[in-house]
Amino acid sequence: MISTKRGIGVIVFIAFCVILGVLLGVLLPRRHLNDDTDSILDLPESSPWYNNQEIKIFRQYLRIPTVHPNINYEPCVEFLRKQAASLDLPFSVHYPRDRLNPVVVITWKGSQPELSSIMLNSHTDVVPVFENLWSHPPFSADIDENGKIFGRGSQDVKALGMIYLAAIRALKLDGIKQLNRTFHVTFVPDEEMGGNYGMSPFVTSNEFKALHVGYVLDEARVAESNKLSVTNDERCTWRIEFVFKGVTGHGSLLFENTTGQKLNYVVSKLMQRREIEVVKLKAANSDYTNVTTINLTVMKGGVQANVIPPELSVTFDVRLGVSADHDEFQKDIENWCEEAGGNVTVNYMIKDPKVPATRADDTNPVWVVLNNTCREFGLEIAPSTTIGATDARYLRALNISAFGFSPIINTPRLLHDHDEYVGANEYLLAIDVYKKVISNLGNI
Ligand SMILES: [Zn+2]
Repeated sequence: MISTKRGIGVIVFIAFCVILGVLLGVLLPRRHLNDDTDSILDLPESSPWYNNQEIKIFRQYLRIPTVHPNINYEPCVEFLRKQAASLDLPFSVHYPRDRLNPVVVITWKGSQPELSSIMLNSHTDVVPVFENLWSHPPFSADIDENGKIFGRGSQDVKALGMIYLAAIRALKLDGIKQLNRTFHVTFVPDEEMGGNYGMSPFVTSNEFKALHVGYVLDEARVAESNKLSVTNDERCTWRIEFVFKGVTGHGSLLFENTTGQKLNYVVSKLMQRREIEVVKLKAANSDYTNVTTINLTVMKGGVQANVIPPELSVTFDVRLGVSADHDEFQKDIENWCEEAGGNVTVNYMIKDPKVPATRADDTNPVWVVLNNTCREFGLEIAPSTTIGATDARYLRALNISAFGFSPIINTPRLLHDHDEYVGANEYLLAIDVYKKVISNLGNI
């Protein structure tokens, strides 16, 4: 009897364990997809960054391959949703152009909502990789013994997005529940492609207007020393396609008004202008601010080697220096096309208008905060012009103060290059700087 009772007891116990197991499996929250990789992200106990949550979160973000083309942003949105939840901050996602291109907004409400807010912006997309040129896989977020965290987007610009959140987390851990001003940490898609599916439509949306943005901090390149370039202006991008139409016929004859002659004329004029700009650049010690860059990037046309083509086209990537006269440049283009013999169509694929620069002086309270905070950390800052283009131009066009500011120092510039990395210590220092910047900005 005793042994039978014991047998029943064992069976009941096993059944209880099975039911409990099933119930726990159903009731406990499902682990997030990214958690599966958490063990990979664990560093050895001997590592100086062992158990550092901020390093871990940054590496998780780097592992999400938001790489062009045809990006699936959904895992990225889910990751950001989880970050907002961990910070106990409201999260919203908007689709200003289409369902494939989400804009995420994480908000830290201020105690004086009537004051305009501060937007901390970064983009979620990254440029393609040539994987064979990387010494570490570009989406593994490997960290080496010196603390270099490798990953596409580590510099451009996933670090910044996580630095904003880490700085807010640090302030909250210090017991700061609220600053006077509201902060919106925004994560936008499509910056690398020009922002036509991201910031450009977002700034005209009602959702953006509701944010009541007064000041913006956005991406800037990392600094190679302790001297930071704070960008307050951009050159203007014009992407121009010229389509030449002309007389067609046998390749053995000398017709007038062929597409080849027209193309040659216009391309020569642009190349002559390019030479002038090369001289200007040398005279300006490689400072691109007032230099217009002109590059032939695409050529199309031709049918067969002995047939004069009825149509040829070329595309130029032009970035107009900040002092360039836009109207005059456009007039020159029109004249050259006319002089070439006409029947030339000019398609502006991108034609950024001139926008006002953000004031980098004592009249702008954000500049004052950046200047004072950086001095405290032994960093020097100077205003500069972005060489490429960033989403800040869409905000400056609305007369909103927008600086590009990245306090990641002592780092070689590897944006869009292979083996892009950010050092763990430089990353953590940048969080400290931003913590101070945010706490000071919150009370301007
Ligand atoms: Zn960028």
